[in-house]
Amino acid sequence: MTKPPLTLYLAAPRGFCAGVDRAIKIVEMALKKWGAPVYVRHEIVHNKFVVDGLRDKGAVFVEELSECPDDRPVIFSAHGVPKSVPSAAQARNMIYVDATCPLVSKVHIEAQRHADAGLQIIMIGHAGHPETVGTMGQLPEGDVLLVETPDDVAAVDVRDETRLAYVTQTTLSVDDTADIVAALQARFPAIIGPHKEDICYATTNRQEAVKTMAPKCDAMLVVGAPNSSNSKRLVEVGARAGCGYAQLVQRADDIDWRALEGISSIGITAGASAPEVLINEVIDAFKARYTVTSELVETAQENVEFKVPRVLRQPA
Ligand code: SF4
Repeated sequence: MTKPPLTLYLAAPRGFCAGVDRAIKIVEMALKKWGAPVYVRHEIVHNKFVVDGLRDKGAVFVEELSECPDDRPVIFSAHGVPKSVPSAAQARNMIYVDATCPLVSKVHIEAQRHADAGLQIIMIGHAGHPETVGTMGQLPEGDVLLVETPDDVAAVDVRDETRLAYVTQTTLSVDDTADIVAALQARFPAIIGPHKEDICYATTNRQEAVKTMAPKCDAMLVVGAPNSSNSKRLVEVGARAGCGYAQLVQRADDIDWRALEGISSIGITAGASAPEVLINEVIDAFKARYTVTSELVETAQENVEFKVPRVLRQPA
């Protein structure tokens, strides 16, 4: 039987970012240095395949520090942690390594700097996401106000309208965030924002590639985890940019072939925590069913790399 033709658009950049790559390497180094088990507070990055692979090597994933024994090393995930977490580890004399992405740490420093200058912080982010919890937790509870939508901006109750600053989660939708920032600036004209977007280069670049790719595609798949904020945003961006069917898949098994019946083009991208091996698995699944012509949709080239510490030691 002849296979139907399919144009496969592949977004670039896609998949792993520098912060994810660094965090995974830190867990691998810790396993080498201290042997198993090494504890990891929260999924090191939001991807089951990555987490399962590290678990097989001896990493133990927990949600809270209280689940870790005192005498084994613990690593904090790329999303960042509230200040209370390293303090608690120190109080228990534990060995800990912080794998927070440097771009998230930058937002933590920014929030602290504004607070030191006497400004109240408004955070644009998703309630309950570990990065939001970590950034808000850089300051005492209740000091950072969270807004998720322009409607939240209308309702937020601030101490002093002239002494405000905002920070954002790094993995938000660039366009949605622009709307929320506009609402903040309209209500609080004196509010201070970051010099440059808190939304990171990886999130921005992946969304930009999807915006270019989506209008060309009958359908689009984002390889990523359901708890990955940046992956979910890619689905939304694709749908908004004109792709009639945009879906998140963790791997090839999740593809709903029925929903794709009759397509002549497919767009594929991946969130920042999805490894290339899963993207290739999805591509191969299409190649098994279609005669595929591939086309790269490249909107940026990335050469960002974050240093992995040469020797792991806990912060002083
Ligand atoms: S998505 Fe951005 S902020 Fe998050 S780990 Fe990657 S580079 Fe860092």
